[in-house]
Order: sequence, then C-alpha cells, then structure tokens
Amino acid sequence: MEAARLAEQKGVPVLRRYMQMEIVPAADEALEFRNYLLREEHRDHVRLLDPTAERDHELLRMCGWCNCICCDETWLSVEEAVNYLGLFGAPQLPQITHGICPDCALNFKDLA
Ligand SMILES: [Zn+2]
Repeated sequence: MEAARLAEQKGVPVLRRYMQMEIVPAADEALEFRNYLLREEHRDHVRLLDPTAERDHELLRMCGWCNCICCDETWLSVEEAVNYLGLFGAPQLPQITHGICPDCALNFKDLA
C-alpha cells in the first residue's frame, strides 16, 4: 500500500485551518495517520462553531472533513449555512452532528 493523502479543512470560530492527512502503512498491518498544517486563515467569529454557544434540539449535519453543512440536501460553507438558515443572532443554535459530504466521500472512494 502506498501513502494516501487527503486534504481537509478544520474550522474553529476565528480560524480556518487547511490540513493534509497522510495515511501510511506501518508495521504489523497497522496504519499511521499523519496530519500536516498547510496554512491558516483568519475568519470572522462564527458562533455556530463556538462550543460554548447555547444549543436547542435541532441537528445540523456537518462534514467532518471540510466542515460544509448540509442544508436541504445542499452542502454549504459554514458562513453560507448561517445565512441560509437565518442563524445569525438566533438565541439558540442547532446541535452539530458529523457526516461526510459527497465531494469528500468521492475523495475517499478514489483512494479505495
Ligand atoms: Zn466534505
């Protein structure tokens, strides 16, 4: 098995990190996961990503790799989803559950 490389984007409320994960074979049929920081960008505070924000019982599905959010079967960036769902200034925010968006799923399929 050769090393596999995946690009991913990790978001925190005020920072966007572009990462690369490398999966390489290790001894005894194990796999080693290596993560590299490619670059960081400042972003305006995104309350939806703030772990201290109050949450209601609604669920939003976020891609665990690129942080896009599924809105009515369309995957949007966090900022687009906040606007689309009218969450800016909402007293409570939905909880976030994780999945994988179709684009990221295709990247994994290409590795198989
Ligand atoms: Zn994704």
